[in-house]
Amino acid sequence: KKVILSVKNLKRYFDVGRGQKLKAVDGISFDILRGETFGLVGESGCGKSTAGRTILGLYNKTDGEVLYEGQSIHDMTDDERHRFLKKMQMIFQDPYASLNPRSTVYEIIAEPMQIHKMYKTQEEMRARVHELLEDVGLNRDHANRYPHEFSGGQRQRIGIARSLALDPDFIIADEPISALDVSVQAQVVKLLQRLQKEKGLTYLFIAHDLSMVKYISDRIGVMYLGHMVELTSSKQLYDKPLHPYTEALLSAIPIPDPDIEESRERILLKGELPSPINPPSGCVFRTRCPYAMEVCGELKPKWLEKEKGHFVACHLHDKEVMKRSDAVREAV
Ligand code: SF4
Ligand code: MG
Repeated sequence: KKVILSVKNLKRYFDVGRGQKLKAVDGISFDILRGETFGLVGESGCGKSTAGRTILGLYNKTDGEVLYEGQSIHDMTDDERHRFLKKMQMIFQDPYASLNPRSTVYEIIAEPMQIHKMYKTQEEMRARVHELLEDVGLNRDHANRYPHEFSGGQRQRIGIARSLALDPDFIIADEPISALDVSVQAQVVKLLQRLQKEKGLTYLFIAHDLSMVKYISDRIGVMYLGHMVELTSSKQLYDKPLHPYTEALLSAIPIPDPDIEESRERILLKGELPSPINPPSGCVFRTRCPYAMEVCGELKPKWLEKEKGHFVACHLHDKEVMKRSDAVREAV
């Protein structure tokens, strides 16, 4: 499979006054392959939504690079950007807030097509809107209604239809099911999977826990406080997590997996997520890590490839660091 999107040492800081910076995304790197689902996971405040918005170019980058099919998305001309925005679309967490309440479903879905002048005639456009409604499991009679007339799950289907209006290749789904009832979540996930197959889509799927993501993702990146701490295939992450934070996230999945003989022991993280304005020195996870050592406060862990395609940033997996006799003394 070929790389469609490449994120290289991407940083996005926000000015928060008095010369201070909020380091929402602080140097993350990963590739996404055409046709795959890449899950980006971490608790709220870890920078995953900011990463998604920066990748789409909705936010400027502070440093690093985002390449879409080899082209830097932050260095495009207006024309190039206009064309790029057809290929990459976003689905949002709250389908109600993202749909204009005063527009009909028809207007909501047709708007991107009008902006991009996709069709010469109203008839062609109307036919396309009807087709999209059917693609997402709604029907053409829904076109003249308003968002408030629909359930949360149906509204998310409308949002998905709109995101498909320009026939994109790549969709960033920012917690698309988090606001929905559990009973509806699986339906929306199934819909996204079907659409991926039918239309050859690539997904960046953002989520705050691993419960659904591990089933739908080919590969997963785990973020903590603006950093990527682990990245590997979904199966490997689940079977053989390397980072203490990933272990904690996995142990928080409520339903025991029938394939796993014993359910995991619940790891409760101590303390709160530190502020991204004043992140901890060394390893950003050290204030909550059950295994923190002295070296964790002094040295930033390297991004190591432990096995092919399995990356982790933790000193416990760095032979060089662990050889140092002073490293493993417990942190005070
Ligand atoms: Fe924990 Fe240290 Fe590994 Fe960070 S580097 S995750 S603090 S053991
Ligand atoms: Mg978010």
